[in-house]
Amino acid sequence: MKVFKFGGASVKDAAGVRNVERIVRLEGANDLMVVVSAMGKTTNALERVVDYLAAGQEDKALTQWVDIIDFHVAIMKELGLQPGVDIRLQGEIPYDPSLPYDENYDQVVSLGEIMSTQIVAVYLLKQGLSVEWWNMPKLLRTDNTWREAVIDETTSRSVIRAGWDRPNRPGIVVAQGFIGGTEDGKRTTLGREGSDYSAAVLGNYLDAESVTIWKDVPGILNADPRIEPNTVLIPSLRYMDAVELANSGAQVMHPKSIRPLENKHIPLFVKPFGDPKASGSVISDDGVGPVGVPVYIWRKNQILITMRAKDFSFALEESLSEIFDIIHQHRLKVSLIQSSAVTISVCVDNTRFVQGAIEALQKGFNVSYNDHLSLLTIRGTTPEVLEQAKAGRTIMLSQTTRRTARLVVKE
Ligand code: ASP
Ligand code: MG
Repeated sequence: MKVFKFGGASVKDAAGVRNVERIVRLEGANDLMVVVSAMGKTTNALERVVDYLAAGQEDKALTQWVDIIDFHVAIMKELGLQPGVDIRLQGEIPYDPSLPYDENYDQVVSLGEIMSTQIVAVYLLKQGLSVEWWNMPKLLRTDNTWREAVIDETTSRSVIRAGWDRPNRPGIVVAQGFIGGTEDGKRTTLGREGSDYSAAVLGNYLDAESVTIWKDVPGILNADPRIEPNTVLIPSLRYMDAVELANSGAQVMHPKSIRPLENKHIPLFVKPFGDPKASGSVISDDGVGPVGVPVYIWRKNQILITMRAKDFSFALEESLSEIFDIIHQHRLKVSLIQSSAVTISVCVDNTRFVQGAIEALQKGFNVSYNDHLSLLTIRGTTPEVLEQAKAGRTIMLSQTTRRTARLVVKE
């Protein structure tokens, strides 16, 4: 079996859904697990619904909600599907003001994937394919760490395997990426951009021959084509390189998606959905690293936090463990660490958790910070490449080894 994952951009309109059919048919339309994200920018729009409701702005929430429903209804109609008949529409917003923000977030935001997969599944079915729709909140069991749920591997694996191995199962299963559910039936999400991770996990459980991520780029490129005009395709990579790329902020795949595949030696293809026969890129055991071209990876929205001990007895080891405990408790994602005799600096994603972490750190340290930063990682750098990258930029901090340079840059 194979796992195909279609991201939001590949199902942003009716043409995208038709293209899914085309790709699935090219593959023989059998023994396929099709993992789908929310359509286009739906996840962002659903986040706004939650934000408005949390802020008590019900009118705005409703307007946004209606826009989201209309967007899906328009796509359904264009595909010849009847809203309300072929696909049941969510009536009310599943928001309960007595519950914590993050729990509400998961109940509302998960609907993007529910809607997209229903449309894709019903459409494929109407085109005469043998299809089954899977409701991942009932199949992928997680804990209730809202917005970053942790998968219960044992339960999920056995439930999903049992579902897949059933006799007479239809040839194609359409499942939501990004979402799962708790034992008591609440929907959860696995963290933004988590569909790749879902696809990888399913590939692992089902011992897939391969996992393919269909994207709006030709494969894995050495730089973001929206930033660098001249990009080069990297045809093959090792898992290790891929993890580093993803962790440095490459938008190409979710960092968590590599391990489930590496563990079972399942190759991961990244292919252009506009040109399904193209070879794209493959990440596998025997991939070769990017040769000859430097790889540029931007990680945006960073904050550099510097801790200085309040007295002079700065014991690095002790402080490190204290600092990292706090960082971990506050769910910060560290992208770079630098220490000197009297300071420790960490570069982290500037999320909603940062403020709380800074307050906790201030109890033991003098804390200063700089925000509006980006982290540029250059793999396969040379002195010339580095000079060029630094030119005209304000560099807050840099770390270089022989082959890799990391620059914290003012945005
Ligand atoms: N729809 C989710 C998001 O946009 C998950 C994904 O696309 O991977 O974050
Ligand atoms: Mg998405």
